[in-house]
Amino acid sequence: MGPQTMPAAFIGHGNPMNALERNRYTEAWRTFGASVPKPRAILVISAHWYTNATAVTAMPRPRTIHDFYGFPQPLFDVEYPAPGLPELATQVADVVKPTWCGADVDSWGIDHGTWSVLVHAFPDASIPVVQLALNAFKDFDHHLELGRKLAQLRDDGVLIIGSGNIVHNLRAVDFGQPDTGYDWALRFDDAAREQLESNPTEIAALDSHPDFRLAVPTPDHYLPMLYIAGLADTEPLNLLVDGHAAGSISMAAYTLGLNCPEAAKPGAGSAALSPDGFPAADSNL
Ligand code: ZN
Repeated sequence: MGPQTMPAAFIGHGNPMNALERNRYTEAWRTFGASVPKPRAILVISAHWYTNATAVTAMPRPRTIHDFYGFPQPLFDVEYPAPGLPELATQVADVVKPTWCGADVDSWGIDHGTWSVLVHAFPDASIPVVQLALNAFKDFDHHLELGRKLAQLRDDGVLIIGSGNIVHNLRAVDFGQPDTGYDWALRFDDAAREQLESNPTEIAALDSHPDFRLAVPTPDHYLPMLYIAGLADTEPLNLLVDGHAAGSISMAAYTLGLNCPEAAKPGAGSAALSPDGFPAADSNL
């Protein structure tokens, strides 16, 4: 790790309504954004670009994607007009070799896994943003390995952010308990924390945890954390903020190469509003 090495982070984004709120999670994301040296670009691995190939956004002006259902109009009105950075897309495709990485110029953009966090962390949307897709056909080891390969970008002014949720089970979501987690959610989240704060290299072992199937019924929100663990290698992560939402969503966020624990102070919890008339599992949270 050189003197100019950029920090990195995994952010538990939770409910997209967090984009419009100020709560202790969004305050922590703000603190994080304000604490990092100004990056050349932000590379985000978002849970919501879970697709059939490895790809990177390569358009100069990525559109803001409203990829959810049943939320109030103001959430559909949010725009995050950050520029792209085609040269970073080329660089990403280069560092992940021999994995083939497609340059997406017209299908994706900036999805809510990215902008619900960046509207708080980098509210003026002036820093270029590039997204890396999650290839749904690849196993956990592959994603960890890609994270390791991306690490060199930290020395080139790139702030890498994984955006997902370590525990994310939409079928078990209970909007009646906005700020609590089920016992199994707490247990799994604690086990992840122990690993990430000691030796992220060993994170792969978590898939044999007895609560893994409930905590991670689908890989999409879990994988972005594996990228940051891969980036970290043996360097411990620091807790930025933690907590639970709607029983089955962990809001834990971690930083790498930066410690801003003052962010983890108590206060109001995550956005509590449920999607209007849509079951959580169909809302694409
Ligand atoms: Zn999500």
